[in-house]
Amino acid sequence: MEERTKTYFRTGLGLKKDVLPVLEQEYHSQAVEQLKERGYRATAGGITIRLAEEFGYCYGVDRAVQYAYEAAHKFPDRRLFLVGEIIHNPHVNGRLQDMGITFMMPGEDGRFDFSDVTPEDVVIIPAFGVAINDFRALREIGCLLVDTTCGSVLNVWKRVDGYARGGHTAIIHGKFYHEETKATASQVKLHPNGTYLIVRDIDEARLVCDYILHGGDGGEFLERFGHSCSEGFDPDRDLSKVGVANQTTMLASETAAIAEEFRKVMVERYGEAELDDHYRHSDTLCSATQDRQNAVNSMMESPPDVMIVIGGYNSSNTAHLAHICAQHTKTYHIEDSTCIDPAAGTISHKAVGGQEICTDSDWLAAGSIEVGITAGASTPNNKIGDTIERVLASRGIELDTLFADQA
Ligand code: SF4
Repeated sequence: MEERTKTYFRTGLGLKKDVLPVLEQEYHSQAVEQLKERGYRATAGGITIRLAEEFGYCYGVDRAVQYAYEAAHKFPDRRLFLVGEIIHNPHVNGRLQDMGITFMMPGEDGRFDFSDVTPEDVVIIPAFGVAINDFRALREIGCLLVDTTCGSVLNVWKRVDGYARGGHTAIIHGKFYHEETKATASQVKLHPNGTYLIVRDIDEARLVCDYILHGGDGGEFLERFGHSCSEGFDPDRDLSKVGVANQTTMLASETAAIAEEFRKVMVERYGEAELDDHYRHSDTLCSATQDRQNAVNSMMESPPDVMIVIGGYNSSNTAHLAHICAQHTKTYHIEDSTCIDPAAGTISHKAVGGQEICTDSDWLAAGSIEVGITAGASTPNNKIGDTIERVLASRGIELDTLFADQA
């Protein structure tokens, strides 16, 4: 019902036909299309470029960017705001800022300040969604909302809502500071006694499981998890019934291991017969994340000499792709094609598993070499095409040669 009101749009603004040519022009890559046509592989001057079979923009990002462009076209005379970033891609975010959209970023306390927003303004909600309090605050202001929250994120919210309704603490495998995880965790607030606890990885999950099984010092527990659980969380009260969900972009294998860890511990603590009452699980990894992880896993069965993973340094799904590849081959996580400087012969990248930005020279060994390429769900094809072009240029090879050789 709400979607039909004049101040809330969730399914586009009816301008798809107008903005698609613009999006095509800004984000399309002929090189990427040609590589796909040639079986995701082409060789020139000793360099074989291999493209993962699933990469780049996912359905949720595609839709969010389209709606943001539609909003800018439909309301040229109104102030447009975005809650945070539309997606984790500096190039796309920059384009939206060029179009006059103001990004509202959270303060140090993690809260958004909407005091400048008026009922005449248009506010875009990103693909990650926003926390329930922020959503309510915006509805109260009465501004026009363009909600691009991805359907896969809404699916996680539904699960978490169900857990909270049934008296289960939502155990969320995710990053407590990530926009999507914050929004997901906030869904428990739909229920007066709803509780959540965010675990970052299997090690944190094991600490929680150990507490469930053996108990411990509640104060110490909260010292460790106080920043990633609901207000008033009591580990002695709130861990007897749990439901496991995950941020949509986590590492699939780790999410499965975490769910299994909780299942086992609940069986041990309460017995198999009582399991249904104490444990619930829904795999809420989105299919786009899963497909991209599967594609690199399959590429790593015969790993290229070097792997380039393109995507924002704050992009969760990109970091996980880089993590998978780094187990098998030398991997560079680059934020943008411009991280490769053909003239200087360098590549600047974020250390896999770390925060450090490093610059390597001599990264492209002489002789025959295979360079694998994939990209996180927020990376448009033009940035992938530019990357291919810069890899080749690092050896003085023209992009056209890549396809001429194969003709
Ligand atoms: S990564 Fe998945 S959940 Fe996130 S926007 Fe894309 S499709 Fe939606």
